[in-house]
Amino acid sequence: MGAAGAAGAAGAAGAAGRFDLPEADVFSRTYWDAAAEGRLLVRRCGACGRAHHYPREFCPHCWSEDVRWERASGRATLYTWSVVHRNDLPPFGERTPYVAAVVDLAEGPRLMTEIVECPAADLRVGMAVEVVFREAGEFRVPVFRVCATP
Ligand SMILES: [Zn+2]
Repeated sequence: MGAAGAAGAAGAAGAAGRFDLPEADVFSRTYWDAAAEGRLLVRRCGACGRAHHYPREFCPHCWSEDVRWERASGRATLYTWSVVHRNDLPPFGERTPYVAAVVDLAEGPRLMTEIVECPAADLRVGMAVEVVFREAGEFRVPVFRVCATP
């Protein structure tokens, strides 16, 4: 899994030479503004009722454009993960080893993220995790920690 996946929606390196910062456009600005306030948003389709992530302007399940922002609970279960021991893209090198992971949000969508505050040896498929937000430049990026009370 590459750096972009570990950071959620990271784009190319910004002016600061970092690869962990997202690039917010007019559409995704809503998502990042909410994240900055500690809220995780997903998009839900008014036509088929399914939620999706990453945010798109149309539903990836039925192609409807009747999609709206919705605040996610922040609760998820761990689907899979990989311990990253080497990543040459700054600032990931300073963080290794870290746990790149895929989690299933309670609302349904699958999200590429990072597991924090838990040794990889203690991780189990299906364990309950919850979102926390990590500062990344002007952004706050959603990462997940293991729930104290599942
Ligand atoms: Zn749909």
